[in-house]
Amino acid sequence: MILIDGKKAAAELRAELKEEVAELKSKHNKVPGLTVILIGDLTPSQIYVRNKEKSANEVGLKSEVIKYPDSVEEKTVLEKIQELNSDETVSGILVQLPLPKHIDKQKVIEAIDPSKDVDGFHPMNVGNLSSGYESSIPCTPLGCYLLIKKIEPNLSGKKAVVVGRSNLNGKPMTQLLLKENCTVTITHSKTKDLKAECLEADIIVAAVGIPELVRGDWVKKDAIVIDVGINKTDNGIVGDVHFDEVSKNAKALTPVPGGVGPMTIACLLKNTINCFKRSQI
Ligand code: NAD
Repeated sequence: MILIDGKKAAAELRAELKEEVAELKSKHNKVPGLTVILIGDLTPSQIYVRNKEKSANEVGLKSEVIKYPDSVEEKTVLEKIQELNSDETVSGILVQLPLPKHIDKQKVIEAIDPSKDVDGFHPMNVGNLSSGYESSIPCTPLGCYLLIKKIEPNLSGKKAVVVGRSNLNGKPMTQLLLKENCTVTITHSKTKDLKAECLEADIIVAAVGIPELVRGDWVKKDAIVIDVGINKTDNGIVGDVHFDEVSKNAKALTPVPGGVGPMTIACLLKNTINCFKRSQI
């Protein structure tokens, strides 16, 4: 079984991006800029944002974090986004989710200029992805896609099962696999027989949030299995896939942690650089 090393793949991607940023700097005499808006003091969000800033600096991006207290008014955030939209030094804008209850997430997402939407959550980018046009692609599914392609460059005709239909993971993952000519089944909490669906799959991507949901006897021999889940349990962090069982069947599997997670931030940097490049045309 191939253990898909997301840490290594992310380090390789960051090294490529670092070179690209250096080339862009010498060509345009400026570097792509990423601005993250962080609202409140949720510990996981603070950790994510710190890691994003560290990685952005590592590849040579200009990085900025704007912090607001939990009590910030929605209007203040929307005005800041407008300001960043027209700031030429800002290539990418990310508002760290989740937001406090009094702030309308959709309003915030839609306020970001789609050409600076490095999360790929703006409806314009969602539409572009599903139409097969160039767009920012949500970072986690993009990371999964790059890991799958490392194992199997030609996905044409493969049967893929995506478990979970969130806007963040399942739906964009489905679009990426469709674009590669996979035959894709998207499953969810109302799917009648999830095990039977998974057993058909050459590729399984699990993005559910239920610890070790996908079992060893759900997986066909030689399937590629990508585990997006991050679940806190009494035994530590586990994924949505039962690692010990599935590793006996699968051709390749991502561990949790150390699989998809590290690719997510690297893909955010990739999206920022792509936004910059599109703005220079
Ligand atoms: P979500 O809660 O938005 O969506 C979960 C999806 O799972 C839903 O579409 C639901 O229909 C489906 N589902 C629920 N129960 C099911 C069942 N019994 N069978 C089949 N499908 C079922 O979750 P999300 O935001 O997509 O996150 C999923 C997981 O991925 C979580 O554990 C989250 O922490 C993790 N995550 C990881 C990363 C990363 O970088 N690795 C990034 C984002 C999210």
